[in-house]
Amino acid sequence: MSDAILTLEHVDVGFATDDGTVSAVSDVSLSVASGEIFGLVGESGCGKTTLAMATMGLLPASATVSGSVRFQGRELVGLAPEDLRRLRGDRISMVFQDPMTSLDPAFSIGEQIAETITAHRNVQRGQARDRALALLADVGIPEPERRYGDAPHRLSGGMRQRVVIATALANEPALMLADEPTTALDVTIQSQILDLLRDLRQRLRTTIVLITHDLGVIAQLCDRVGVMYAGQLVEIATVAEIFRAPRHPYTQALLAALPTQHQEPGSLRVIPGRVPNLIDPPPGCRFASRCPYVMDECTIVPPLAHESADHLIACWLSEATRAAAHPAGAATGGAA
Ligand code: SF4
Repeated sequence: MSDAILTLEHVDVGFATDDGTVSAVSDVSLSVASGEIFGLVGESGCGKTTLAMATMGLLPASATVSGSVRFQGRELVGLAPEDLRRLRGDRISMVFQDPMTSLDPAFSIGEQIAETITAHRNVQRGQARDRALALLADVGIPEPERRYGDAPHRLSGGMRQRVVIATALANEPALMLADEPTTALDVTIQSQILDLLRDLRQRLRTTIVLITHDLGVIAQLCDRVGVMYAGQLVEIATVAEIFRAPRHPYTQALLAALPTQHQEPGSLRVIPGRVPNLIDPPPGCRFASRCPYVMDECTIVPPLAHESADHLIACWLSEATRAAAHPAGAATGGAA
């Protein structure tokens, strides 16, 4: 992708535990274009948050990250902690699910935004205050002058999430990673926050990577989506394409499990089986134990390959995957 702002290549993340190393992310490669809203979707524990934390350099010391994470052409894996700190909150920012864990209860919301500005910019406190007030207005906080001195607990959940987004935008980042930013909110507030993110992308051209388990949120906001399962990236497509013609059996199962408006009680579809143990994951495709189409070659990891310009899939059912694995045309039979 020529105008990519973020490029991940062969990213692996492992966590050392007493029982062995958890392979939380395995060989993930993707690109996000400047100005795009890219969704990362999958069940809890599939590695999407770990991938975002690896991008931000926020993983604990027990984690091992390998591969390449390039932001605006600059390699972040192995970057000195001080250089990473300078990038965070400035060129890259992150919004977490629970605003109360991001906001310091001991300081007012306005002070916290102003502090983010003065930490990265050589500005006077008065200028930082003015900018914080403008940001509060930007994210739809009514009467910013009056609310500036409020402690976080005086705001509703939706308002607190707006403050967290204002803080993330304080230094006009080129890239914002938003991890389940609406999960803790009711549907009305969720819709307002999604409108806000859409509006901010429009006005500021901020690139957004949205992490969620909710395909409805993906449908409302994103341009493209990457589907993760058990630490592997299994499909990437435009949002329209993923809903129109999902190709990977896991994506198909996820969409089939979505409740419909006229769902009969007790008829909700589930994906049979369990996510594999990532301390000792199966060789090859990690969806194999739950996949109705599993075959012999699924013990080999299927490479993510282009079925079309905008649609990539990692599954041995795909001719594109087979061609990528056997470029000389030596594909073994059985593709559907
Ligand atoms: Fe199923 Fe094999 Fe495709 Fe994995 S690679 S989704 S096990 S058919």
